[in-house]
Amino acid sequence: MSTGFLWDELYAWHDTGTGSGFMSAGGLVEAEAHGESPATKRRFRNLLDVTGLLDKCVELKPRPATDEEILRLHTPEYVQRIKDMSAAGGGDGGELAPFGANGYEVAALAAGGAITATEAVVHGAIDNAYALVRPPGHHAERDLGRGFCIFGNTALAALHAREALGADRVAIVDWDVHHGNGTEHAFYEDGSVLAISLHQDNLYPNDSGRVTDTGAGEGAGTTLNVPLPPGSGNGAYEAAFERVVAPAIERFRPDVVLVASGLDASMCDPFAIMMVTSPGFARMARILLDVTDSVCQGRLVLIHEGGYSTAHVPFCGVAVMEELLGVPPGERVEDPFTAVFAGMAYQDLQPHQDAAIGRAEAALAVVPG
Ligand code: ZN
Repeated sequence: MSTGFLWDELYAWHDTGTGSGFMSAGGLVEAEAHGESPATKRRFRNLLDVTGLLDKCVELKPRPATDEEILRLHTPEYVQRIKDMSAAGGGDGGELAPFGANGYEVAALAAGGAITATEAVVHGAIDNAYALVRPPGHHAERDLGRGFCIFGNTALAALHAREALGADRVAIVDWDVHHGNGTEHAFYEDGSVLAISLHQDNLYPNDSGRVTDTGAGEGAGTTLNVPLPPGSGNGAYEAAFERVVAPAIERFRPDVVLVASGLDASMCDPFAIMMVTSPGFARMARILLDVTDSVCQGRLVLIHEGGYSTAHVPFCGVAVMEELLGVPPGERVEDPFTAVFAGMAYQDLQPHQDAAIGRAEAALAVVPG
């Protein structure tokens, strides 16, 4: 097994300015570090480094996505607007998507990172990969930056797989705690991409990611939403993966599986109210490794999205990487948070969570085989 890991220091230089939480500073919002900061990603990579896991990975370096590649998804007017604002010192992609003077260049490098990792896996240079890109991408729509996202990195990787790498079908599993609205918009009427999003029910964007939204036209049945109640933990996520995600992938039989890997369903995240811990993320990764082994020779590419707990994101990320690398259980990093979290109540699947997963399970019947 070989696992690629992609990072570039410029990702940490993406400048979201000052703010508080997910808001930019101004008015009554006193300035401190913006909630989407480099810290969680740096600390994830640092923990891989000090635990020796980074040395076990194949290093991947990104290139910027070309205009032609970005325009597979985004409108020319939108791309030009981002370039102009970036050249003028920064701006906002639309809604809660601030960026600084290097905004366009870093966003193009993030999209290019997702593409680079996908190329390496589809070409067979490596078995699977994690692209730790920034800014994230799954909220970005064709002509609108949203929720810290400028370009739709994961969607652009899927389009690249289809249009340049010979993939007929691509599956995207979005385990970020927020709805993958940008990915859904990109492929809602496209039958070649199965877009599955698990998210805290009606969190961000508001009124988005309903279980009844399952695609339209040629894309009928190729969008699956699994909205989960606030407070869902490892039990709910494992059940959703076993009962909805894995069967959908088995039915659709994609050529490659991409993961929009937000680590913000974690127990400590400031922007959501879920309870997943590092063993929960490892379990989700394991289920995906097993199903991709059975349908597409294990071709699995994880592309980083959100995740805002500086304390917990690094351990959740390391747990995922250990699964990708196939580190034996006895040799794994001990997450010091796990002992505390393990004693907390309501980690098991709860009846109302079971019912929510049941509603998503019903939508499986329309996934084209
Ligand atoms: Zn998120």
